[in-house]
Amino acid sequence: KSGFYGRLRRGLEKTRRFLTTDVDKLFVPGKKLDDQTLEDLEELLITADIGVKATTELIAGLSKQAAGITDPDHLKEAIKEMILPYLEDDRPTDEATRPLATPHVIMVIGVNGVGKTTTIGKLAARHRANGKKVMLVAADTFRAAAIEQLSIWADRTGADILKHRENSDPAAVAYDGVEAARARGVDVVIVDTAGRLHTKVNLMEELKKIKRSMSKTMPDAPHEVLLVLDATTGQNAISQTELFTKAADVTGIVLTKLDGTAKGGIAINLRHSFGIPIQYIGVGEQVEDLQPFDPRAFLDAMF
Ligand code: GDP
Repeated sequence: KSGFYGRLRRGLEKTRRFLTTDVDKLFVPGKKLDDQTLEDLEELLITADIGVKATTELIAGLSKQAAGITDPDHLKEAIKEMILPYLEDDRPTDEATRPLATPHVIMVIGVNGVGKTTTIGKLAARHRANGKKVMLVAADTFRAAAIEQLSIWADRTGADILKHRENSDPAAVAYDGVEAARARGVDVVIVDTAGRLHTKVNLMEELKKIKRSMSKTMPDAPHEVLLVLDATTGQNAISQTELFTKAADVTGIVLTKLDGTAKGGIAINLRHSFGIPIQYIGVGEQVEDLQPFDPRAFLDAMF
């Protein structure tokens, strides 16, 4: 865990440095939090990708406590305490202890390049490590490379794979995947989907179709729809969420690339704007670089 959060801390270092030093600078020693300071703080939080709406709420909350806040550390703690309820989730994210349907079907969606395939591989590895029988389903039939990548992850993690030929019907692949998983006693099915955004309408229709076809063979499938987002893309991650939530009931978000230039605030913005829990975060390309989201540890890395 320390390795993972070490990487997260290094990824968010720039944000943390700028948030903390600038918050420190906002304070004249012994002076209380005035309107000007709050205004400057508002700007800082927006720059960290937290978003205008969540920031406005935070500032309103802080202004109520302003008289009691007299030093930067106290202010940072107050900010964290206010953000924490946004990020906390009432569902257990630990797949080792969570009761799952058999097979438990996870559909993974998101735009190309955000880290979807890597996330699927890491998820497969996590479930395998918990002793689960895993099957990957290659329903991104548009790119031969996507099917190939998924096969490599299946080999690497000891998961089964269900694939058809390139350009075959993704909904049929997904249907066959769930069918085969049931027949073979698979515990966890992870379904890869296409993410080519230049045909937005078609893509959304395709995702709906994939979802419907799976529920034909297993009525409550998919049990989870995970949306993968690249944390370094800021506002784009927000617009992608707007788009994908129209096509599917997204049950969780996977936020990748927090080891790079991401500002971190996007996690708060997403949770506040859409109410969808951040389920996992990614900090690199290795199998161990995906972990269930821990709001407290995340905020400690950020502030
Ligand atoms: P897909 O097109 O969404 O399936 O994306 P891929 O899984 O192929 O990932 C795109 C690129 O991002 C690859 O080079 C991955 O190694 C890289 N990548 C994925 N997740 C992370 C992450 O958390 N951190 C970093 N630094 N790179 C990542």
